[in-house]
Amino acid sequence: MANHLYDALFARHETSDHAFLHLPDDTVLTHRSFAQITAALAGMLAALGIRPGDRVAAQVEKSPTSLALYAACLRVGAVFLPLNIAYTDHEVAFFLKDCAASVLFCDPSRADQLRQGLSGSTLKILTMAPDGTGDWQTAGDPQTRITDRTGDDLAAILYTSGTTGRPKGAMLSHDNLLSNARTLVNLWGFSDADTLLHALPVYHSHGLFVACNVSILAGAQMIYLQKFDPDHVINALPRSTVMMGVPTFYTRLLACDGFDREVSQSMRLFISGSAPLLAQTHEAFEALTGHRILERYGLTETSMNTSNPLTGPRKSGTVGLPLPGVDVRIETTDNETTGEIEVKGPNVFKGYWGLKDKTAEAFTEDGYFRTGDLGEIDEDGYITIVGRSKDLIISGGLNIYPKEIETIIDAQPDVYESAVIGLPDPDFGERVIAMIVEAPGHTLDQGALSKVLAQSLAKFKLPKEMITVSGLPRNAMGKVMKKDLRDIASQQKLTSPP
Ligand code: AMP
Repeated sequence: MANHLYDALFARHETSDHAFLHLPDDTVLTHRSFAQITAALAGMLAALGIRPGDRVAAQVEKSPTSLALYAACLRVGAVFLPLNIAYTDHEVAFFLKDCAASVLFCDPSRADQLRQGLSGSTLKILTMAPDGTGDWQTAGDPQTRITDRTGDDLAAILYTSGTTGRPKGAMLSHDNLLSNARTLVNLWGFSDADTLLHALPVYHSHGLFVACNVSILAGAQMIYLQKFDPDHVINALPRSTVMMGVPTFYTRLLACDGFDREVSQSMRLFISGSAPLLAQTHEAFEALTGHRILERYGLTETSMNTSNPLTGPRKSGTVGLPLPGVDVRIETTDNETTGEIEVKGPNVFKGYWGLKDKTAEAFTEDGYFRTGDLGEIDEDGYITIVGRSKDLIISGGLNIYPKEIETIIDAQPDVYESAVIGLPDPDFGERVIAMIVEAPGHTLDQGALSKVLAQSLAKFKLPKEMITVSGLPRNAMGKVMKKDLRDIASQQKLTSPP
């Protein structure tokens, strides 16, 4: 037997003295040194009595040691549960209880409070500081044994952000993760000649499974930044060949004086995902750097599903073509071109932890995962996401896709960006509201905008109110928090367009 994911990602590099992680203090960690940290962590997990299948939670800062904890969990056959550092004690307690975790790694500053809050449970709490030190170092001797695991065994549980209802633990198997990483290495041309600029958080599928798994599988190096800071990114770009980012990375880089064609000269690829990349960002980025950002699309439950090609047209506003081996279809109803995106393939997760009914609801009868995203497909097979099904506005019984309205508003010179939401309405069920961020130095001409909208859209789709806001609330992955916008809009005194 063997360990499906650990062998492919980590075991084969264990005795290599090649550089693996370039750290902010200019030190370089080799694969061999990383494997030693992994062995120390694996020994500690074994000493704690962690057995294959046990859940190991981590709410710690991004560091080489926290990445080694992921490797150590795979090595001993445990299921890794990374948690956003921003979660409150109350939220953390929910996740730990929900999946009956055996151990939690936390930042030393949080330990006392968490221990108090969780007293009475059998859970063990250990500390891990951003520099990798902590009381985890007191237990066990390094362990080099690798536990057998098949492709079907669980590697990780990632909780979905839970924007509707309670968060659900998506169970991802060794093969879910490895099959996707293999596909992406080939599709994006990754090799050991690459250096990935890593500025994403690693509690999310994007930073951990897309960025790290793909780089490690290809034998690439990573410039491992603690977080996204435009100055640090600009400083590291000349030593990098690929960057993966959320759209906010790209808009923030474009706003920096030091970002230009010269600093991106060594780059062969910029990739974007997790939220929609505005066409204007795409164009401005290409004009400045000569690079066309490659946009791709995925979810916690499926890892990546579609991507624009490495060679061949990268169509802005689209998320590209289905990945090889991944079956993507759009379930339309009669006479509609828009429908829910459904996915089937080795990348699709095993279900939600402890939620048989929710899992069953998430799949069609013929085994496709319902993504909850609404999409369209063009004549070349490229997919465009037009919104989330839960964002769909139904006004007077008619379907309204916010993205259709946002695209028109965003194209106006006095608009930087917009988000269209629905608010409850006694007559229509829901009414359309546009939240608009003005372009720098511009004042929105609501009258002119209303005219443009009226020329392009059926009357029932026209916003009933427009509200200018200083910015759109986004989470760490760059997603616009429409729920927060609905709260803001319902509290504001709304101004009607003339
Ligand atoms: P998460 O599970 O946190 O990774 O969020 C997945 C959701 O992010 C998807 O269901 C999409 O709504 C959204 N998403 C991911 N990539 C893109 C993209 N390239 N364009 C638009 N939305 C995206």
